[in-house]
Amino acid sequence: MTLAAGNLSQSSPMIDPFGRHVSYLRVSVTDRCDFRCVYCMSEDMNFLPKQDLLTLEELDRLCSVFIEKGVKKLRITGGEPLVRRDIMKLFKSLSKHLGGPLEELTLTTNGSQLDKYATELADCGVKRINVSLDTLDPIKFRTITRWGNLDKVLGGISAAQKAGIAVKINAVALKGVNDGEVEAMVQWAHDGGMDITFIEVMPMGDIEPDRFDQYWPLSHLRSQLQSRYTLDEIEYRTGGPARYVRAKETGGRIGFITPLTHNFCESCNRVRITCTGTLYMCLGQDDAADLRAPLRASSNNILLSDAIDRAILRKPKGHDFLIERNSSRPSVARHMSVTGG
Ligand code: SAM
Ligand code: SF4
Repeated sequence: MTLAAGNLSQSSPMIDPFGRHVSYLRVSVTDRCDFRCVYCMSEDMNFLPKQDLLTLEELDRLCSVFIEKGVKKLRITGGEPLVRRDIMKLFKSLSKHLGGPLEELTLTTNGSQLDKYATELADCGVKRINVSLDTLDPIKFRTITRWGNLDKVLGGISAAQKAGIAVKINAVALKGVNDGEVEAMVQWAHDGGMDITFIEVMPMGDIEPDRFDQYWPLSHLRSQLQSRYTLDEIEYRTGGPARYVRAKETGGRIGFITPLTHNFCESCNRVRITCTGTLYMCLGQDDAADLRAPLRASSNNILLSDAIDRAILRKPKGHDFLIERNSSRPSVARHMSVTGG
């Protein structure tokens, strides 16, 4: 098969050895962040030297190749994606694929810069975003994020909604931290017209606290919610791993992402690239493929496309996350901020 430079229209779709079509790409555009959430990073994180990062133009080219190979949903993440300099240039160039093969361009953010960028994001065709928010208590918020300011994030959420962007709240379930307020968070999100998804903490990266002390299984969280809300199973899906219910009393949706208590790998359609162009075929495994070398080796995309095809054939069946007390090592050594959730 001969492929013209930049034209991969004849290339085969990305299907892994288990028959799963890869149609969802998450792109971490920076490993840096203006927060230091206790479950995500250590306080004194070491970040990559800036010269190791792909340029925005390279990220654009990489994403474009994935789109030509069948990606329909693109999520920009990080670290905190909105702290990457000139990030709106990337959104602008990627937005050109919308209305064509790309069905959705979206973002996961901590919300700290949303007031500044909400309108531009909406102008780039971003219709829905995820904002991570684990508590509505300003003091707890500061303790969890170490450096964050709750008012700023709430202001960012309002700015996004005013710009016409639907916001979904993502909250990590944290034992002894936000377990007393999940009912109130649901009420707040639904009153504000937002879905809310709870996530089990995953054993990724060395952090100071013991993961076991943070881990609150969503089976327990769900039982707690059921003492206040009637939860009806619904078929709603967003293309990600969350499974949804509707709370009868509010009419709003609640999602559950349960990598520990219920493995969601069988329907996995996702791969992730880091800001240095490393492709991870599974969030919970270490195997990875370098795409930076083939990207830089030629302006023609053939080498890159071949490297992607070879990597997809190594996509594993699922992750092996395990949380144990006093475990000396996390299941996966890299922090979540490397691949962005
Ligand atoms: N900075 C952005 C944010 O916080 O939304 C994007 C990157 S952050 C790594 C993506 C998501 O991963 C956030 O919702 C965050 O709460 C979640 N996260 C980080 N570390 C996690 C962990 N160890 N287990 C579960 N979720 C985690
Ligand atoms: Fe930053 Fe997001 Fe990690 Fe918090 S979860 S430290 S906001 S990358």
